[in-house]
Amino acid sequence: MSAKIKHFPGEPIETREFREGKVLTESFKPKAKYAWSAGIAVSRFLEELKNGRIIASTCSKCKRIMVPPRIYCEKCFKPTDGWTYVKDTGVINTFSVSFLAADATRLKEPIVVAIIDLDGASENMGIVHRIEEYGDWKEIKIGMRVKAVWKPPEERVGAITDIKYFKPVKE
Ligand SMILES: [Zn+2]
Repeated sequence: MSAKIKHFPGEPIETREFREGKVLTESFKPKAKYAWSAGIAVSRFLEELKNGRIIASTCSKCKRIMVPPRIYCEKCFKPTDGWTYVKDTGVINTFSVSFLAADATRLKEPIVVAIIDLDGASENMGIVHRIEEYGDWKEIKIGMRVKAVWKPPEERVGAITDIKYFKPVKE
């Protein structure tokens, strides 16, 4: 048997009462600082980006080359046991074209985000990044070859944005 609550405890407040200043309110800007550990594998990955290189972890059992690197092979259930560099070129595995900006306004030139299979990495290791310098977005195709455009060394901080974007390149 359930009892229906006819009267909730407390005083109900309407939006109108906020607008009319009848309710005490407080405005503040929260200082939402946080720290996050990238872990062993991704820390090395980010550090190498600063040097203009993309590093992958390897598993000696299944021979996979994993990027972004991880310390555990989820296929073999064992720690990865090696490192290798992969190229900063690859192919577009899939992509998305958006004409919406972050503030929901319409863009004249779209933002293109792609999953990029880097040369030297195993299958299904695509990394997410932006595609720019593509000319006409309608020309962007799955399987198109792309290359990383890096920030100048002095501007790199050890972040995925040390690669500004990927741009299409001829075969
Ligand atoms: Zn493995």
